[in-house]
Amino acid sequence: MGTGTTRLGPAPQTGLRRQDSVVARRSKLAGAGLVLVLLAVSVYAVWSAQATAGSAAAAATASRLSDDYAQAATAVAAEESLERKYRLEPNAKVRARYDATAAGFVAALEVVRHDGRAGDAAFVDSVLVHHRAYLTAAYRMFRATDRGDIAGVRKIDNEQTDPSFAVIERAVLDVARRKHDASLSQIDHLQRLESTTGRLTPLVFLLGLALATLLASVSRGHRRQLDVERAVAVHDALHDALTGLPNRTLLADRFNQALRTGASVGLLLIDLDRFKEINDTFGHHYGDALLTQVGPRLSAALREVDTVARLGGDEFAVLLHDVRCVNDAVVVAEKLRAALETPFRVEDVDLDIEASVGVVLSGEHGEDPTTLLQRADIAMYVAKSQNLGVFAYDADADGHSPAKVALLGDLRRALDRRELTLHYQPKVSISGGDVVGAEALVRWQHPARGLLFPDSFIPLAEHTGLIGPLTTYVLDSALAQARAWLDTGHPLTVSVNLSARNLLDSRLPAEVAGLLGQHGVPAELLELEVTESAIMTEPERAHSLLEELSALGVRISIDDFGAGYTSLGQLKNLPVTELKIDKSFVLTMDSDSSNALIVQSVVDLGHNLGLTLIAEGVETAQALSTLRGYGCDVAQGYHIARPLAAAAFDQWRAAQLAETAVTQPVW
Ligand code: C2E
Ligand code: CA
Ligand code: CA
Repeated sequence: MGTGTTRLGPAPQTGLRRQDSVVARRSKLAGAGLVLVLLAVSVYAVWSAQATAGSAAAAATASRLSDDYAQAATAVAAEESLERKYRLEPNAKVRARYDATAAGFVAALEVVRHDGRAGDAAFVDSVLVHHRAYLTAAYRMFRATDRGDIAGVRKIDNEQTDPSFAVIERAVLDVARRKHDASLSQIDHLQRLESTTGRLTPLVFLLGLALATLLASVSRGHRRQLDVERAVAVHDALHDALTGLPNRTLLADRFNQALRTGASVGLLLIDLDRFKEINDTFGHHYGDALLTQVGPRLSAALREVDTVARLGGDEFAVLLHDVRCVNDAVVVAEKLRAALETPFRVEDVDLDIEASVGVVLSGEHGEDPTTLLQRADIAMYVAKSQNLGVFAYDADADGHSPAKVALLGDLRRALDRRELTLHYQPKVSISGGDVVGAEALVRWQHPARGLLFPDSFIPLAEHTGLIGPLTTYVLDSALAQARAWLDTGHPLTVSVNLSARNLLDSRLPAEVAGLLGQHGVPAELLELEVTESAIMTEPERAHSLLEELSALGVRISIDDFGAGYTSLGQLKNLPVTELKIDKSFVLTMDSDSSNALIVQSVVDLGHNLGLTLIAEGVETAQALSTLRGYGCDVAQGYHIARPLAAAAFDQWRAAQLAETAVTQPVW
């Protein structure tokens, strides 16, 4: 399984975010500017309205007062002319008109008092005082006129009425003129104010409009920027970062769309063989470059309507629209395999890969994308494990329940994500008590189901061809651990379990040799545990493979011995160094004498063949002592220690080393 590095795109996103924040800042500034301008415009509008209204009211008051004074001036002038008229024509009619005019003057002054302010009232008071004095003199003068006393009339006129009237007339005319001027200047002020606001208002309005337009354009820019960013985010969520191809999500979406049309849809699942080798040999840089070339290769061999997606690692999927039958889809799959056969050129290096393709067809192999994808997965693994190149899903060949099929998909991803870990269970010398080795037992830290034990996934891996990558993974991790132990100065043999299928994989010895070299671990520090039944699947092939492994210097242990049918005669010819007595006998030997006999005989016979004997499933001190009595060499079981995570194992072992240095081991 390959693990092409997927480069996410932080750079453009950070860039967008930075740009976005600049735009947002500008938009905020423009907004604040607009608010200020709107505030200024409002203040201006209120001020100009109030100023105009105030000025207009003042102008109106001034004008009214000016009219009042003018009225008084007219009345005073009429009073004087009637006074003269009476002196010339002293009759009752003229006298009545005079009296009315004098009263009219007083009334006009009262109107001034009413309309005017305090100053005007004081003025009216002083004029009335003078007027009353004048009237007293005027009446005396009229009486002299009535008597025909010309000299008396002239005297009163010269000394009293004329000077006192002159004071009144001058004062009234003077004030009337001033009030008239004041009224004119108020009107002038009002006109000036109106012309100023008349000129300023459109200017202020235009300024506000310009700023509002600016803000609108800035916020439109901001919105457009957000739209672009959103579009990029949507694109990123639906596409693979490395190759730019649609990802699993988009594939599922297109799959659903295609299924809704009612036409048959073909799904091809393509896994690149040997991709991991390229990654390991040349580096991820080459692997990534190769992966980016795969999409265009596949697309070139397909129709425009078909979709090529990358599901992760070295796995691609192709959606074929409107396929008539499975065979048509198989033909396309063959074509795609051929398209990938031409070597890929990366930096002047020709890289060869092959592909395994699983084929399914909607309707025939399932109705929904999930089922179809799972079945394509199984078909692909059949193609891969049986070196078929292309394989169309075959319901008869698939004995998996949907739950198991789902688990299979998970397991494949678990290998990619390195969710599998190893626990180590010590093997100890029964006579000396020292730790002579550790068996690596795989665990799966499942993201949803928690820690899974091998029984729940190893058989599945064995049936689907996933056991190959799984064994590679375990060998790799176990050898890394062996190297770590070597580095601490306390080397330990590590045992790895092999499955029957591993024994049929002719590439295994080369792979083991490669991993030993890679980790710098001497071959004798690796032991491979093989069950009898695994050897019996294809004894000859298994035999020659074990020979090859043994030739590397690796030790071979026969696991679960006694439960199968391996005759001791066959054992003699196998390159085996250790026999591991099946725990079913060990667990029961203290209560079941026939099992005890079997254990004892196996120990004896194994020793006769020069093999090391190990008993697993040692759960009690009694079992250990029985085994010691039989002369068994090594023990493994809960009584000594349960399988432990590497760190816990190291702690346990450190305690053990300290213990054995002083006395005997604890068990
Ligand atoms: P196995 O090879 O026979 O491994 C021994 C199993 O017995 C382990 O179970 C271990 O935890 C358990 N065991 C150890 N001491 C005692 C004891 O005192 N009493 C009892 N009742 N059990 C004991 P585990 O780890 O669940 O492994 C189960 C099987 O899964 C292994 O049986 C082995 O066949 C397989 N397996 C584990 N790891 C791998 C692996 O990396 N590759 C392959 N191909 N198979 C593996
Ligand atoms: Ca084992
Ligand atoms: Ca076993």
